[in-house]
Amino acid sequence: MKAMKYSGFLVCCIVLCVFFVASSYAEMPTVVIVTTGGTIAEKTDPETGGAVPAVSGKDLIEAVPGLGKIANIEVVNLCNIDSSQMTPEIWAKLSKTVDGRLAEAKVKGAVVTHGTDTMAEGAYFLGLTLKSDKPVAFVGAMRDASDVSPDGPANILNAVTQVCSKEAQDWGVTVTLNEYVNSARNVVKTNSTNVQTFDSGEKGYLGYIAMGKVIHYNDAPARQRLPIPDKLPNVTLLSTFAGDDGSLVRFAADHGARGIVMDAVGAGNVNAEVYEAIKYAMAKGIPVVITTRVYHSGVWPMYGDQGGGETLEKNGAILGGDLTGAKARLLLMLAIAKEKDDVSKIKVYFKR
Ligand code: ASP
Repeated sequence: MKAMKYSGFLVCCIVLCVFFVASSYAEMPTVVIVTTGGTIAEKTDPETGGAVPAVSGKDLIEAVPGLGKIANIEVVNLCNIDSSQMTPEIWAKLSKTVDGRLAEAKVKGAVVTHGTDTMAEGAYFLGLTLKSDKPVAFVGAMRDASDVSPDGPANILNAVTQVCSKEAQDWGVTVTLNEYVNSARNVVKTNSTNVQTFDSGEKGYLGYIAMGKVIHYNDAPARQRLPIPDKLPNVTLLSTFAGDDGSLVRFAADHGARGIVMDAVGAGNVNAEVYEAIKYAMAKGIPVVITTRVYHSGVWPMYGDQGGGETLEKNGAILGGDLTGAKARLLLMLAIAKEKDDVSKIKVYFKR
């Protein structure tokens, strides 16, 4: 009698365990990982000693133990290039691919593996163009898969943990490396070799990930949304330097630039020759956005001499606020396409 009671109890325990495992699997979120290349998917070439693209999306995922315990993973291999070779056209294709998968009800969020050289701009482009509000984490690595301690696998695990977490549901597109979560809008690559390279300066991190937990520090900045045009307009990004005679600005204006971003000095100042060249470009109907190479605070209408930020703004240049030149260029491309070169409407996108 006693034996029958115990065996019945045992059967109930087994049924409950099977039910629990099956239901937790069914409840596990689906995360799509779209791979594009970068150091995270590179190995050291024994011939040259340099890092070269060498790791497939499948291999990337298999190098991350425990991933299958937090989400059902689906991989899309978009390309496998060093992000120094990235183009806005590839980012447009990436944005449409990610949006297409996020539109599926079962998909909780997406992770994009990408090189770190242009990751900040690529994440910003998707922040501007994705229709979905679901979480997207860009992730990469500063050490390749041949390194003695690659940082890629931990970064991928953290990124998947993040997009599955409730804390990340309103963060939109992020750049997540070395446990820190940055907004696509504010993030900058600050170190060419160190794993702690992505930073948002005075604006601070969105959050932090440790031991599988996501800590929410800040809300993400408000998102601007723009459609992806069939053809992205040609927008040139230039910097300036002591003794600049403005010839590069004039060359861009005379050779097909639909817009120009001038990465200026200080609070957004250029010399008198560059100022004349910017006026020459604007007289041709070419919008000119002024950004600065200075890391914090950005561009202000502070100086009234020939080429000062206030003089530039008064004469029709658009002040780019605290956007980096590379990000302002992408915003200007999308704004020109949307507003058909109407400078008064384009200006609105850059208002602080
Ligand atoms: N050159 C690499 C890239 O941007 C650097 C990295 O991924 O860390 O693809």
